[in-house]
Amino acid sequence: MARVAVVGAGLGGLAAAARLAALGHDVLVLEQAAAIGGKLGWYARDGHGFDTGPSLVTLPQVYRDLFDATGGPLDEAVDLVRLDPAVAYRFADGTRLTVPGHAAAVPAALDAALGGGAGAQWAGLMARAERMWRVTEQPFLRSPLAGVATLARLARSGRDVATVAPWRTLRGLGRSHLHSAELRMLLDRYATYSGSDPRRAPAVLATVPYAEQAFGSWYVRGGLRRLGEAVAARAVERGARIRVGAAVERIVVEGGRTAGVALAGGEVVRADVVVSGADAAALYRDLLPPLPATRRVRGDLVRSTPSLSGFVLLLALRGRTPGLAHHTVLFPGDYDAEFDAVFGAGRSRGVPRPVEDPTVYVSAPDDPATRPEADSESWFVLVNAPRHDPAGGVDWDEPGLADRYAARVLEVMAQRGLDVRHRVRWSVVRTPADLARETGSVGGSIYGTSSNGARAAFLRPGNAGPVSGLFLVGGSAHPGGGLPLVALSAQIVAGLVGPA
Ligand SMILES: Cc1cc2nc3c(=O)[nH]c(=O)nc-3n(C[C@H](O)[C@H](O)[C@H](O)COP(=O)(O)OP(=O)(O)OC[C@H]3O[C@@H](n4cnc5c(N)ncnc54)[C@H](O)[C@@H]3O)c2cc1C
Repeated sequence: MARVAVVGAGLGGLAAAARLAALGHDVLVLEQAAAIGGKLGWYARDGHGFDTGPSLVTLPQVYRDLFDATGGPLDEAVDLVRLDPAVAYRFADGTRLTVPGHAAAVPAALDAALGGGAGAQWAGLMARAERMWRVTEQPFLRSPLAGVATLARLARSGRDVATVAPWRTLRGLGRSHLHSAELRMLLDRYATYSGSDPRRAPAVLATVPYAEQAFGSWYVRGGLRRLGEAVAARAVERGARIRVGAAVERIVVEGGRTAGVALAGGEVVRADVVVSGADAAALYRDLLPPLPATRRVRGDLVRSTPSLSGFVLLLALRGRTPGLAHHTVLFPGDYDAEFDAVFGAGRSRGVPRPVEDPTVYVSAPDDPATRPEADSESWFVLVNAPRHDPAGGVDWDEPGLADRYAARVLEVMAQRGLDVRHRVRWSVVRTPADLARETGSVGGSIYGTSSNGARAAFLRPGNAGPVSGLFLVGGSAHPGGGLPLVALSAQIVAGLVGPA
């Protein structure tokens, strides 16, 4: 039995703790915040309740695997609800498209809303994406990153390489399969699921809409935070201990291997294995000594583009909105202007800035647990935003900026047909700077490094750390961010550590 210290009680740390405790290890989770969950946060006031981070669960089988492997089915722990429709889109010209929650129904819905053979175009793309999924799921998503060996696994056959087309961007793939401007926009949006720019992200991200449509879009009744609570409860049932208010200041390295962690205040927790669920950029920058063994990954992090962040509005609303879907996306006329602004690319000439006319994502669960009375709603509103970077980008703490931008987002929503300004009881603004402060993610990046660039997936820090006994879990490590991938990283780490 190894003594395992897990840094951070985000979903990655909690899932690793549950798996390692189930394998018989002595696990202690150390969380700097006052509550567990990390980005999977919850805000409640006056009977209104909001998930402050994730609002969509995909690939639920990953969580089923986690619960099965640690002692009992997921469905006994949380109430998962498959969404149908999955999402409602509104385009700048007024076109509306409601995407059903089951893949088989999607082409007909696309034909009805967009015409022009849109259904067949999308089905053709999804068939290709399914092949990509089959090629990459096991050797990439479910296996440790192992540099050249990972590439070799992926490149077993020329046909597999042609399927994945690593030289191609998501935008390029969309252009070759989709003639409908709306469908191209819809595909582009999936680059943002990994915090990326579709013009630079790889074509293989077409597996994201494939997985979403094939395996469903899901909600957890009571809020997605229930998933974090359930994983924490499972970890504790298996014997793990969780300490909140315990900030790790550094990883203790002795004789070339980890010996534990030092907490703010001086306490040292001895451990044979350290699993870091903290943002990998923060781990390499702040928690690890500048050992030669860390040099390569530090270099990779510098070469990577950090993922985008998010600007969030929590709106406590009077009244109900007729016909509102669980998820609604309001697209702008000029999507590329958004990526230029967020990444300081193209027309933004190297200077990131808040998006003037952003895509607005609204999540409004029809769930009594999120509202004080039937005649009210609690909306989570998210727009893509540049990271908090006072030195070279946007300083989200600049006085007045957050409130000005919140008003702008409400105005954009009104222009696109969702004017709720007269219904707001109160609202809460959460900027990238808040996200950075609350979860320790550098600049408030949602997903660690982005997938911008053909090599991005291989520049992301691997799960085996640079010193013996140190492992990385969570959205800033391989295989990437988002709830399912974070849980897969925990599965990989448990495999690397092995049974007690
Ligand atoms: C606005 C927003 C919307 C999102 N939407 C979705 C979505 O719809 N679907 C989806 O699948 N994903 C979504 N995500 C992404 C998803 O939330 C993350 O990928 C996932 O929750 C990350 O989990 P994690 O454990 O890797 O990191 P985190 O949740 O960031 O956990 C890291 C934990 O470590 C703690 N910590 C950091 N440093 C230290 C330290 N030195 N000592 C002790 N503790 C420390 C932090 O406090 C935190 O609790 C969204 C994220 C955000 C922010």
